[in-house]
Amino acid sequence: MSSMFSKPRPGGERPPQSPLAECNVAILGCRGAGKSGETDAPRPRGWPVGGRPPHPPLSPPAALTVKFLTKRFISEYDPNLEDTYASEELVDQQPVLLKVMDTADQDGPGNCERYLRWASAFLVVYSIEDRKSFEGCQRYLEVLALHARGCQRRCPVLLLGNKLDMEQYRQVPAAEGMSVASRFRCLFYEVSACQDFAGVQHVFHEAVREVRRQ
Ligand code: GDP
Ligand code: MG
Repeated sequence: MSSMFSKPRPGGERPPQSPLAECNVAILGCRGAGKSGETDAPRPRGWPVGGRPPHPPLSPPAALTVKFLTKRFISEYDPNLEDTYASEELVDQQPVLLKVMDTADQDGPGNCERYLRWASAFLVVYSIEDRKSFEGCQRYLEVLALHARGCQRRCPVLLLGNKLDMEQYRQVPAAEGMSVASRFRCLFYEVSACQDFAGVQHVFHEAVREVRRQ
């Protein structure tokens, strides 16, 4: 991975190999929670893992991911698409290669192995205007808690109430989100993928900080 970023020095001397620290974040949650944009999406700054810049991603990433990578919100997105994106970020003046997996489970947590093995942190997303998505996300938290019991390393989990801009249709009080987060010992945030770049970026950077603290 380091070869992608390290520049050859004059004289052909190779720089010391210091691979960029990586942080793998999986975004989990029920359909419609706000993890996804349309096919003529702008090019995000990130690129699909396995692909190489400057080629555009094969498909647009999730709403939250789009917001984070492009500062733009894409309103329609194929609910069946699942992809992983990477972006070089600076978090507390330290570079990190942040990889984001936008999952698209059809019906709640099922075939979870792919992200349980891969991720170093999880964002579990629900929509504050959809109680069912809140209930659904608790199934993800349970799966993660169960997985953590059998694990040496602790993977940080962040619970995210999305669509904060839909306050007038709110079905899940913030206090309930907080209470579930404290029950599962995770951080809790409310954001708007469509309006709040700073808030969304903060959450991704917090995930990186949490992983660094482990
Ligand atoms: P996913 O199934 O979790 O990937 O959900 P999507 O990203 O496809 O979003 C489902 C719907 O919610 C789409 O119509 C989005 O435009 C919309 N959506 C996503 N995030 C927000 C948000 O922060 N605010 C509002 N108002 N709508 C959002
Ligand atoms: Mg999606």
